Amino acid sequence: MKYVDEYRQPHLVKKLSQALHQITTRPWTIMEVCGGQTHSIVKFGLQALLPQKIRLIHGPGCPVCVTPIHLIDHALHIATQPNTILCSFGDMLRVPGSRTDLLTMKAKGSDIRIIHSPSETLSIAKMNPHKQIILFAVGFETTAPANATTVYMAKQLKLDNFSLLASNVLVPPALEFLLQSQGNEVQGLLAAGHVCTITGYGDYHALARNYQTPIVVTGFEPLDILQGLYLCVQQLEKGEYCVINQYRRCVQEQGNLHAQTIMNSVFKAVDREWRGIGVIASSGLGLVDEFAGYDAAIRFPLEKPLSLKDNGCISGLILQGKKKPCECSLFGKQCTPESPYGAPMVSTEGACSAYYQYSNSRDHQ
Ligand code: SF4
Repeated sequence: MKYVDEYRQPHLVKKLSQALHQITTRPWTIMEVCGGQTHSIVKFGLQALLPQKIRLIHGPGCPVCVTPIHLIDHALHIATQPNTILCSFGDMLRVPGSRTDLLTMKAKGSDIRIIHSPSETLSIAKMNPHKQIILFAVGFETTAPANATTVYMAKQLKLDNFSLLASNVLVPPALEFLLQSQGNEVQGLLAAGHVCTITGYGDYHALARNYQTPIVVTGFEPLDILQGLYLCVQQLEKGEYCVINQYRRCVQEQGNLHAQTIMNSVFKAVDREWRGIGVIASSGLGLVDEFAGYDAAIRFPLEKPLSLKDNGCISGLILQGKKKPCECSLFGKQCTPESPYGAPMVSTEGACSAYYQYSNSRDHQ
């Protein structure tokens, strides 16, 4: 397949693996930020091709996984209100809230619809003028422009029966939170290429400099990841801490200016809770005043957050790279994709689902 096979060529994979062995003299711990990269690493068995001195840890880059329970509870609350249609993506429906999940509520009769693009909600709003249509679209900066465009278009079309349950999160504040946290072990970062397609990587220079952590903007195929690791280790070995763009076929330093313009006209940075991690300052996107009328959290307030019950899921530690999925006592036993205890087992970008799908059976013990 064009633009995929070129980045999986075995002889080039072998060459990069050998090059990594040649330059690595000391132990290094490197975090891949994105869940898509985690899936590639586990699916293609890339860890086995690395020098033993390189330890990979998995980062928080799975948007479904970091969506806090109270936001899912809020979506559940909205879905049970009369004359509402809640629209979201497939993954999100199976993520447990504090009591149940959206799929169960759908089975019980709530009008919850799976969409493939945020703009579908506008058609649903036009066809159902007497119902309230709510878009619950989680994601990082990658999906924020499409969500922003949908809100913007709703205003242009005067669709007052549309609203958004704002849930997008931002990567750089979360990385800073991890790098400054007590006991941080991350020495180098592979940044998520698709996020940088939108944002560029201007914000990463200060992070690399201030925390003496090389950052390589990296793609998702095996050669991308191995080259990203090579560029990271090369810097670590030399004591250099810069930002390098490995994913040049998609990412430019300034990012996509059109996407940034629509994002910035509809959203502003707000404090946001990350599931299992806590509140990270300025790490989420809320609606600016001009679009505040489209805020589903205001239209359908959740009076009293539900108390949470601890089901033993350690997703917070998984998302911070402090534990691996197979270190969770529930992994592959009580917690499976068919019966998930936490979001990382549900999402197509979750570390637990990657280990479950691609690791061999002994890793499940
Ligand atoms: S295996 Fe399941 S219970 Fe354990 S951390 Fe992952 S999602 Fe949570």
